[in-house]
Amino acid sequence: GNREKKAVAALTSTGKPRVTPDSLVNLDHGDPTMFEEFWRGAMGEQATLVIPGWQTMSYFSNLSGLCWFLEPGLEREVRRLHRLVGNAATEGYHVLVGTGSMQLFQAALYALCSPAPVGSDGPVSVVSPAPYYSSYPSVTDFLNSGLYRWAGDANTFDGDNYIELVCSPNNPDGGIRESILKSESGKGKAIHDLAYYWPQYTPITGMLAHDIMLFTVSKSTGHAGTRIGWALVKDREVAQRMSKYIELNTIGVSKDSQLRAAKIIAAVVDSYERQPSAATGDASLLFHFALRQMTRRWKALRAAVAASGIFSLPDEVAGFCTFTKDTMTANPPFAWLRCEKEGVEDLEGFLREHKIITRSGTKFGADRKVVRISMVDTDEAFNVFIDRLATMQ
Ligand code: PMP
Repeated sequence: GNREKKAVAALTSTGKPRVTPDSLVNLDHGDPTMFEEFWRGAMGEQATLVIPGWQTMSYFSNLSGLCWFLEPGLEREVRRLHRLVGNAATEGYHVLVGTGSMQLFQAALYALCSPAPVGSDGPVSVVSPAPYYSSYPSVTDFLNSGLYRWAGDANTFDGDNYIELVCSPNNPDGGIRESILKSESGKGKAIHDLAYYWPQYTPITGMLAHDIMLFTVSKSTGHAGTRIGWALVKDREVAQRMSKYIELNTIGVSKDSQLRAAKIIAAVVDSYERQPSAATGDASLLFHFALRQMTRRWKALRAAVAASGIFSLPDEVAGFCTFTKDTMTANPPFAWLRCEKEGVEDLEGFLREHKIITRSGTKFGADRKVVRISMVDTDEAFNVFIDRLATMQ
């Protein structure tokens, strides 16, 4: 009835409440709703997938492959996408699929720590330089594994029995990172979380070729709800153990989601192949659309920070992007905003008083005068946030 219609109008298609100039703005999560506008446009049709009732019924996708639950079509599109963007090597790599890259992160921890060597010196230390992604400690420790244990800031870590999590560009502060720990015995390992190594967030400066590299459609195309991530893994045994983890954890990964992710990635790559000399204003090119959005938002944010005068941001960095073939500034997916005003000790609390929900620095191994703010939410939420920030004294 009417009441139902009213209730629906108050929600966006994501089910999140509408944002009005005086309502609460939640920029706590990095929910990539910014991309919705693109997929509602001309390209939406090409990424639409219909799955008949009889399809995707079997558990199995590829019995002859290393990863039996990986849809060959998704593997093909993932390899095409990396060849297009030039951000990661795929030749000589095993491709694995996960329910989001978060599952693959856990699979990698398991694979690098098992089987635990006889007489080993306890759980492997999992570390990352602060500020580190807030999920790393909680996801590492929530099952209290005997194989590995969160050990905090890699800057203060001493030892050789470790896994270093390298997130680049870094969540929360956008920094470009390389591993900082060197393992003399070779026991120390690294997992590269490259969720944000895409041209809308940072200039692509090289084809990375690390042992374990994690990616996700959540941040590349914006399809976080599809829950598809992938790993590029050099070592066959590590890849096999990661695959085993997912087999034991969820008996594979939704085929429906894999097919949808494959369709979406194919639409992205196809559009670039149709127009090899990308006109930057073209509405059918995902990375160019997202890059325009992110550039506009970072300009607006920096202007608001300047207008307010009580905040600071990490310095702007620029570089030549081998994908866009242009010099560009980095546009991190999060703003790592610091308050310089005396008397504001708890910035998350201060912003909450202004009805802006952010995530405190303390969750990232940093202090309370800094917060992380999503830069990839809807235009509506972002614009209200910017207007409010600019007038804060
Ligand atoms: N790594 C990083 C650095 C992230 O920011 C996120 C999502 N916030 C993830 C991994 C998890 O992504 P997914 O949706 O693929 O599980």
